[in-house]
Amino acid sequence: MGAREDGRRRIPRTDVLLNDAEVRFAGRDKSSAERELAVRAVLARARSGHLDVDDVRAEVLSEVASPTYSGTPVLNGTGVIVHTNLGRAPLSSSAVRAMVAASDYVDVELDLVTGRRGPRGMASREALVRSVPGAEDALIVNNGAAALILVCTMLAQDGEILLSRGEMVEIGDGFRIPPLVESTGVRLREVGMTNRTRLADYSDAIGPQTRAILKVHPSNFRVSGFTTSVGCVQLRTLGLPVIADIGSGLLAPDPLLPDEPDAASTLRDGADLVIASGDKLLGGPQAGLILGKSALVEQARRHPLARALRVDKITLAALEATLRGVEPPVSTYLHLDAADYEARTNRLADRLGVGVVETMGRVGGGGAPEVQLPGWAVILPEACAPLLREGRPAVLARVEQGRCLLDLRCIPTESEADLERAVRASLAGA
Ligand SMILES: *Cc1c(COP(=O)(O)O)cnc(C)c1O
Repeated sequence: MGAREDGRRRIPRTDVLLNDAEVRFAGRDKSSAERELAVRAVLARARSGHLDVDDVRAEVLSEVASPTYSGTPVLNGTGVIVHTNLGRAPLSSSAVRAMVAASDYVDVELDLVTGRRGPRGMASREALVRSVPGAEDALIVNNGAAALILVCTMLAQDGEILLSRGEMVEIGDGFRIPPLVESTGVRLREVGMTNRTRLADYSDAIGPQTRAILKVHPSNFRVSGFTTSVGCVQLRTLGLPVIADIGSGLLAPDPLLPDEPDAASTLRDGADLVIASGDKLLGGPQAGLILGKSALVEQARRHPLARALRVDKITLAALEATLRGVEPPVSTYLHLDAADYEARTNRLADRLGVGVVETMGRVGGGGAPEVQLPGWAVILPEACAPLLREGRPAVLARVEQGRCLLDLRCIPTESEADLERAVRASLAGA
């Protein structure tokens, strides 16, 4: 008997490992089918000689304990509502339930009455149209950037689009609007100056190749002082399609965010198409929304590129439920009841025996950069910050002036007990 054959004989059996109390405990967060899958994968490596027989047990224990989905949920204690590094908008419970329902076979492209193929994502589209007065039709694509390239390609593949120099912006992580639009073969014609662009700058620039006017909301900065820009009310007089990229996905005006454009007002002002993201202030899944004139939306829907940019059934479900269901967390955290929020913060600080400081929350996600949301934070030693990040649940706090500040704005009330446990553990280790 060769050494290799002898080794194979010593490999434990699948059912023995699956019934092993330690293995079951290590894999308690997995289903039994998932545990079996993990055990079988380790045994296969041992049988093929890629894993030493003596290491099998340890490897099985580590494999059954490692989660099938490796993303770690994070409690957001930063006070930044749409946190780019934490996946932007947390979804509403309605959206989460819709995603689970849509994960099975679902009538996303079937008319159950006739038994024939139906238009894809009709209900999500209707929910969007109902939510935005003035939108004749809507199309949902992968994200804001996808919406932008679809609309620009459709309108101006053989020509140029006008864009103010004050709106040639970088959104974040090196993502710039002009190269994105130009990557489609569309030529961007810059008009006006960084701080001032007038209607005449646009009208003087219109030539035989001009197909549309693009208006981009400079989401993450403000130009102040000696400035002029041209709104859709004036741009519509130039006789070309006006596309407004409003960025954040606010559907109606919000008094807390006076400088943030919303879809309904922008359409009323004369934009032919409005483009926005689904996962910023709308508080939904990653998506790009195209809203406006039905002829143009229909043209976008039929464009060959639309197929490459379309969203899956799960996103359609989440978006519809975001619009029709309970208030999304983004909106809740933005409009918190101040007295309740302050009292929650004080109670947590009292229990922990630490202080509270007034602080400023942010909209985040590159939106409403000048808006400061008055809030409160619990003061912890700076050394708590890394311990909180690496603890379970993971907690992200803000480090400011040598202190670790924990803001309850974006922490659901039902997570406060978990949060408190994590903070106590970090205080013990700091
Ligand atoms: C965020 C943003 C985009 C990009 O949207 P994504 O959904 O991230 O692709 C485009 N334009 C503006 C003005 C934005 O604020």
